[in-house]
Amino acid sequence: MAPTRSAPDVPSSAQPSTPPSVSAWDVAQRQYDRAADKLNLSPGVREVLRHAKREVTVHFPVQMDNGETRVFHGYRVWHNVVRGPAKGGLRYHPSLNLDDVRALAMWMTWKCAAVKIPFGGAKGGVTCDPAAMSPRELERMTRRYVTDIADMLGPDSDIPAPDVNTNPQVMAWVMDTYSMHRGHSVPGVVTGKPLSIGGSEGRADATGRGVVYLIQEAAKMLDLDLDDARAAIQGFGNVGASSARFLHEVGARVVAVSDSRGGVFNGDGLDLATLTRHKQETGSVVGAPRTQTISNADLLELDCDILVPAALEGMITAENAPQIRARIVAEGANGPTTPEADDILRANGTLVIPDILANAGGVTVSYFEWVQDREEFFWTIEEINARLRRALLRAFDEVQRMGAEHTVDLRLAAYMLAVQRVAEATLTRGIYP
Ligand code: GLU
Repeated sequence: MAPTRSAPDVPSSAQPSTPPSVSAWDVAQRQYDRAADKLNLSPGVREVLRHAKREVTVHFPVQMDNGETRVFHGYRVWHNVVRGPAKGGLRYHPSLNLDDVRALAMWMTWKCAAVKIPFGGAKGGVTCDPAAMSPRELERMTRRYVTDIADMLGPDSDIPAPDVNTNPQVMAWVMDTYSMHRGHSVPGVVTGKPLSIGGSEGRADATGRGVVYLIQEAAKMLDLDLDDARAAIQGFGNVGASSARFLHEVGARVVAVSDSRGGVFNGDGLDLATLTRHKQETGSVVGAPRTQTISNADLLELDCDILVPAALEGMITAENAPQIRARIVAEGANGPTTPEADDILRANGTLVIPDILANAGGVTVSYFEWVQDREEFFWTIEEINARLRRALLRAFDEVQRMGAEHTVDLRLAAYMLAVQRVAEATLTRGIYP
C-alpha cells in the first residue's frame, strides 16, 4: 500500500511544510532563546544547544518505473545526542528542506527531555511527493536513502520512526535495508514498525491517544466538561484521525476536521467512520456525506472548545491567532504555533498544550518499542497504554509546576524543563577533550 494512503504519523498533505513567511528553524530557535533567557543559561552551553550537532545531506539516484533515473535530496540531522541515541521521524514532503529538518530535530531533543526518555533529538526525510510515486518507487527511494545515511543509524546511535507521509511499511523497509547490510535482523534500529517484525502494540495511535490524555488534564484545570465539548481538528492523518477518535470516545463532539484539500463541518458532530471511508475512497475528507465544506482557515477560527492543530508547522500565526476561539489548543503537530501567536493566545486566555508535550505520546511508545526490541520481550496493550498515560501525566504535572513557579505559560515551562535537563546533562558530561 502506498505510504501516503495509510496512517502517516502526522497527516499527509500537499501543503508546503511552512508558509513561506514562517521559517520553522527561526521559530524553533526563538522558542529556545526564550527558555535560555529565562533559565539564565551560561553562554557556552546556550550556544551549544542552539545548533544542530550533525547535519547530513545526501543526493542520490533512484530508478523510476518508467526507466528514468531521478536524483532525490535527503537529510538526517542530529540536533543533540547528549542524553542518548538520536531519535526522530522520517518525513517525505515536496517542500522539505534542511531548515525544516533542523527545527524538527531540535523539537525532538526537547520532547524527549520533557517526557524524560533517554534519547536525543533527530529528524530526517526526503524532498519528494509520495502521492505522485508508486509503492515500488517509494520502496527503492527509501532503501537508497537509508543506505546513504546508514553510517548514522543503529539501535545505539540513531533510531528513525514515522513522520509526515511515512508509515509502518516504510519503517519495515528501513529495518530490512539496515539489516541486510548488517547480515542479521536489527529490529531496534527503527520504531513504528509493523507488529510482525518487532513493532509495539499501541504505537500506531499513541500520538493521538497522548493528545487526548493531555486534553483531559487541561480540561480539568479549566473546569471544562469534555462531555459534548466541541472539538475542531486540523489534519486527518495519523495524529488528527486518532485524536478525533479518542476525543469522541471521551464524549467530545468533533464538529470539524480538515486535510490539505480543505475541511468539513457538522455542528451536531461528524461521523468519523464515514469520514475515514470517504478519505480512503477519494483521498480527502472534503465532500463527505452530511458535511458542510469549510476552509482550513475557517476551521482554526471556529467557535469550539478544543482545537487540535495536527497538520504542519507555522499554521497559527499573528494573523489568525486573534480569531481563535478555542479554550484549549492541543498541538498534535510539531511547531504549529509561532511565538507571536503564542503571545496572542496567552493574552486571550487560551490554554496551549505545547507540541513537545502534547504529541510526545508517539515517541514515548517508540521508546517502549525500542526497549521491547532490545529485550526481545513484548508487553500487552494494557501495559503500554498505562505506562504511556503515566509518563505523559507526570510530564504534564512537572510542566505545570514549572509554570506556576516561574509564572510562565505551558510552552515556556515545558521548554525550561527540557532545556534544563539537556543543559545539565551537557555540563555533567563536560566538554570533550
Ligand atoms: N515523528 C514523531 C514525532 O514527531 C515520532 C518520532 C519518534 O517516534 O521517534 O514525534
